[in-house]
Amino acid sequence: MENLVIIGMGCAGLTAAIYAARGNLDPFIITGSEEEGGQLMLTTMVENFPGFPDGVLGPDLIALMKKQAERFGARFLSERVTAFAHKNDAFEIKTGDGQTLQAKTVIISTGASAKWLGIESETRYRGRGVTSCATCDGYFFRDKEVIVIGGGDSACEESLFLTKFASKVTIIHRRDQLRASKIMQDRVFSNPKIKMAWNSEVVEVLGDGKKVTGVKLRNIATGKTTDFSCDGVFLAIGHEPNTAIFKSVIDLDEKGFVKTDRRMRTNVPGIFACGDVQDHIYKQAITASGTGCQAAMEAEKYLEEIKAMKK
Ligand code: NAP
Repeated sequence: MENLVIIGMGCAGLTAAIYAARGNLDPFIITGSEEEGGQLMLTTMVENFPGFPDGVLGPDLIALMKKQAERFGARFLSERVTAFAHKNDAFEIKTGDGQTLQAKTVIISTGASAKWLGIESETRYRGRGVTSCATCDGYFFRDKEVIVIGGGDSACEESLFLTKFASKVTIIHRRDQLRASKIMQDRVFSNPKIKMAWNSEVVEVLGDGKKVTGVKLRNIATGKTTDFSCDGVFLAIGHEPNTAIFKSVIDLDEKGFVKTDRRMRTNVPGIFACGDVQDHIYKQAITASGTGCQAAMEAEKYLEEIKAMKK
């Protein structure tokens, strides 16, 4: 029986692992096999994580946190969790490699994944010009024209990154003003390679059967549609929480985020949650880390309480 299993290895799960390992809880972290390291792995320079005055690359920050957790004895399994259940005062976790683990406490830190528009042509051209990761795929669009869909910090950050490769970047936004922070907006508006298409939505991705050749845009104000040619379509319209495997065990809100109290406790004693899987307001690396610390400290307290009750 494990003391503590942490499910998910973004900055929330890793911070929980550092605290739990230093607290002698001997945590076991199941990293997830597809998006190991979480959203920071898909980011370039992180400029607002305290302690890095010159910024730090997202993947480097994750590697440093993992090294720090390993230094205190945290153990890692690079697998997906396929099933999760509450059985006889313990939690049962099944992983993709066929293992079944029992745990006294669990911290859920499975984060959130990129949202897609949900149109058929988007799925057809995914990986053939449609992507949600500029950091991963920007290189393939050298001297090409691309669009970025969205109006938040991610859309701005991805657009700025893409100007290193693309000849032109057009941000397609459904409103007439960006949601992004002022500093990101200023950078976007002062970059000559970035153009804006306001009040516009992509209703279809156009292609020649093999790759993207453009998109059909609808002007939200007039309803008029136009064809817009481009070689790449980058989605940056936010994220949704990875909670499908937990929904029969713990309470989720109407958008699928794990419901927690201020102490990162879910409605089931012994299950805690931290990071983007339970936060739809701040969604920052530093807040995810902060809640990871809280979850680990609460798990430690919970383990002490159940130990005292058994005496
Ligand atoms: P976000 O702030 O939720 O913005 C999502 C954007 O996509 C919004 O502009 C939204 O439009 C648009 N959108 C949502 N659904 C859409 C749909 N179906 N079709 C078309 N457009 C759609 O998400 P984010 O940009 O990923 O940022 C998430 C969090 O991470 C934020 O707190 C942000 O500050 C943070 N972040 C920070 C940095 C940084 O500081 N460097 C970088 C990246 C992200 P509306 O505006 O009309 O709702």
